[in-house]
Amino acid sequence: MRSDRKRAIVVGASVSGLLIGRVLADYFDEVLLIDKESLDRGVEPRKAVPQGNHIHGILTPMVTALKWLLPGFVDDLVAAGANVFDSGAGTRFHIFGTQLRNGHTDQPLIGCTRPFFEHHLRQRVESLPNVQIRAGQRFERWVTSDDQARVVGLEMTGAAGTDKLAADLVVDARGRASALQKELPALGFDAARQEVIGIDLGYTSRLFEAPGFSPAWDLLIVNQSPPDVWINAVVQKVEGDRYIGTQVGYFGDHAPADDAGYMEFANRLPVQEFADFLQIAKPVTDYQRFGTRDCRMTRYEELDRFPANLLVVGDAVCNLNPVYGQGMTNAANEAVELHQSLAEHLGRNSSLDGFTDGFRKHLPSVGAEWAWQMTTAADLQFEQTVGDRSRSGRFMSWYMKRLFLRATKNLHARKGIFDATMLVKPPQSLTTPRMVLHALGL
Ligand SMILES: Cc1cc2nc3c(=O)[nH]c(=O)nc-3n(C[C@H](O)[C@H](O)[C@H](O)COP(=O)(O)OP(=O)(O)OC[C@H]3O[C@@H](n4cnc5c(N)ncnc54)[C@H](O)[C@@H]3O)c2cc1C
Repeated sequence: MRSDRKRAIVVGASVSGLLIGRVLADYFDEVLLIDKESLDRGVEPRKAVPQGNHIHGILTPMVTALKWLLPGFVDDLVAAGANVFDSGAGTRFHIFGTQLRNGHTDQPLIGCTRPFFEHHLRQRVESLPNVQIRAGQRFERWVTSDDQARVVGLEMTGAAGTDKLAADLVVDARGRASALQKELPALGFDAARQEVIGIDLGYTSRLFEAPGFSPAWDLLIVNQSPPDVWINAVVQKVEGDRYIGTQVGYFGDHAPADDAGYMEFANRLPVQEFADFLQIAKPVTDYQRFGTRDCRMTRYEELDRFPANLLVVGDAVCNLNPVYGQGMTNAANEAVELHQSLAEHLGRNSSLDGFTDGFRKHLPSVGAEWAWQMTTAADLQFEQTVGDRSRSGRFMSWYMKRLFLRATKNLHARKGIFDATMLVKPPQSLTTPRMVLHALGL
């Protein structure tokens, strides 16, 4: 019955890899996740996932996906200290020098640090009886069939040397480090087209305690406001009654990692609230920095020919601007879609044949395309952004500013913006006739 579903291997045991591993456990006898890192650092940030030092919002569609994929997991996260709050009532959002209107939405967000989340997710996925995580194993190369049409396994290297494993399905979840673009030509396939948006972004973050401080928010956002303000700051309440605070700058204008420079940067923000927070909060970690010059969308879906039985997911396909906080939610949406697509395919077919090709072509429409379109259009409103400007458009900039300004008073406009930016609804939902009327104040 399941002769072509004996073993699946996922390369990369981070958020995307773990969620995909969880899904494949329902369809394969054995699921193996390999990761080049040792993964024994508990809830500490790790070297291959340097973004672990920085703020990581878990958006509503991801909460829904986690509840569906891993029943009870969100409750376990909360029991372990994660902070669940209402996106509308708990978020204070400043943009264009003004504050969006607050109001209950029934759309939960989760506040916790990234290493805390990944640690709990890994424990939960690893507890599945047919899932095994082999840490400290670096992916080396894909093994293909004699005619090179399909991937039939991989080679990896660990402390004990090189190992070759056969698999019926392999998944590249190597994140930003994925080298699939370079590997494809070596396997006899074309490299995929990449869309690249240059923003030279820099994060400077640290964890804080603030005993006795009880703000009216769980998440404070002092947003960038294109085209003139390209710095932002965010504070989020996380496990252990702590706060993670981050200042971000575009175009090389990055917050320094020293007290005076950090405060000076905070004083340049259009509102004082983040600087006020720094005055009362006590840091519990050093400053941590992260930089990225660009965001990338690799158009694997456009290729006519692609190795069969190979999937590529998460940041390895779509490397979004992290300031919009959508990467993990995108990964979770992809995992849910994989589950549903596999169920559908196997309901109609007795084998996996043809599955990976169809799923690859369909994958961006699951959410990455929305996120990519919305975030690149927003970033292209800055003159300094490097990228294809045919996507932006003065009208859209004008319209979005108008909608944000209406959202300071109008709850429907605020909800519309949150729904689109948090991937609850597609970007087109911002231009429905009703939303246009809200934007115009009619
Ligand atoms: C500064 C920053 C802030 C962010 N903030 C948010 C946020 O607020 N909300 C949000 O949803 N997302 C956020 N993101 C995005 C989020 O971190 C990613 O989308 C998420 O980690 C999913 O990525 P991934 O699992 O595809 O890849 P990664 O998390 O990058 O993991 C890749 C894994 O592959 C492994 N690996 C790599 N190469 C090999 C190899 N050769 N062999 C074996 N293993 C390998 C690595 O060790 C790693 O475990 C942020 C990103 C950054 C950079």
